This record gives sequence, C-alpha cells and structure tokens, in this order.
Amino acid sequence: MRELGLTPFWRKKQGRTPTTVDTKIHDSNESDSQHLDRTKRILHLDWPQLKAEVENCHACPLSQARLHTVFGVGDEQADWLFIGEGPGAREDEIGEPFVGQAGKLLDSMLAAVQLKRGSNVYITNIVKCRPPNNRNPECNEAEQCRPYLERQIALIKPKLIIALGKVAAQNLLTTNDSISNLRGRLHSYLGTPLIVTYHPAYLLRSLMDKSKAWEDLCFAKATMESLAITANPSLKI
Ligand code: SF4
Repeated sequence: MRELGLTPFWRKKQGRTPTTVDTKIHDSNESDSQHLDRTKRILHLDWPQLKAEVENCHACPLSQARLHTVFGVGDEQADWLFIGEGPGAREDEIGEPFVGQAGKLLDSMLAAVQLKRGSNVYITNIVKCRPPNNRNPECNEAEQCRPYLERQIALIKPKLIIALGKVAAQNLLTTNDSISNLRGRLHSYLGTPLIVTYHPAYLLRSLMDKSKAWEDLCFAKATMESLAITANPSLKI
C-alpha cells in the first residue's frame, strides 16, 4: 500500500440494437405522463440501446455544455457497483467515469479490497453529463437521469452497491441525512444492498477520513462475503 501513497491511512485495523428514438425532451416542458412513458421505455432497453439513448440524451439542461456523456465503465455482470455523483472535467473530456486523481484513488480503494476496475466491478454516476463548474447535480437533473441508472442496475444485477459520497447516497436513498449518519449501515436500493462511503475526490482533500473509508470498504467486503455465503451455504467453513 505504500506504493499507492496511502499509508498510513489504509493500514488494516483490527476489529471492521441502437435506438433511433428522438430523446430531445426538455424537462421544463415534459409532463408527468411523458416522463412516465420515457421511464417505462428506458426500462426495456438492452445495453446497446441504453448506451445510444444516453449518448443522444437532451432530457435535462446538463446536455447543453457537455463534451461527452459518461455512461459508465466495467464488467456488465459485476457483483460490485460503485456509483458517484457526476462526471468532472476530465471525465467529460474522455467520456469515462473516475479518471484523474480521484479515479486513481478509487482504483487504490478497489485494490485494497482485492478488486479491479473492469473485473467484477462496474462504475457509474447518478448523472451522465457533467454539471457546470463541478456543482452538485440538481434534483430535476438527477430525476431525469434516474431511469438510465435504474436500467443499468437491472441489467447488471449487482450483489452490492457502493454509494460514493453524500450526493450519490442522498439521491439513491432519497434522504437528507449526513454521510456520517449513513455510513456503517446496510441500506437497500431497489432491493439491492447498498453501503455508503466517501467520494474519492473528498478523500483527496480530507486525508484523515481515509481511515473511515477503509472501515467502509472492510464492511463492504464482509457484507459481500456474507451475501455469497447466504447464496451458497456450502462456502461456509
Ligand atoms: S444528465 Fe442524464 S438526463 Fe441529463 S442530459 Fe445527460 S444523460 Fe440526459
């Protein structure tokens, strides 16, 4: 872990078919029934259709300044799904989530629990387009983008979701609770177990909280092991 520049913070503690549908629907003019129809349609798309739909999406104002949509990356049958809040500048440039320094730290966090980007891990965000000046996504933006995330989850069928940061956690859990209240507990999103931890970009600024993120990862790892045993009791020693 020293090579990753994470010591002493990561030291283990004792004890824890492409669509051609026109998606130029702007939120301000969209009625509830149009939103419902759009949501229902998205929930039936396959991977290629979903990717194409996101690529051509103008359902919220975030489409106006984006360079690229940032759909998500990784194993499309992963047990682990990591969800952040939205793309930053670098992600917007290249169309992949969690690149740059925060991405490197996320990769280190994955490695700390023997995981690797692209292998049994999928990474995406609440919104697929970059909010200007890296502000938090607005409620209506997250709401318009939610069907894409829900469809990704339905297609991936992850065993465990990790919400990265307050914005992702509050959106997924529909709560205003602080991240300190949400950490350390097993939640559920659409029937999938969910654990909350800090966003890697926050950890880059708040080194002292890396030890808490490590606790969250240990909790997540133990939860995944317990889920595996529940699914297959013969794994128990
Ligand atoms: S953030 Fe989501 S809903 Fe908004 S334009 Fe991008 S893909 Fe569409």
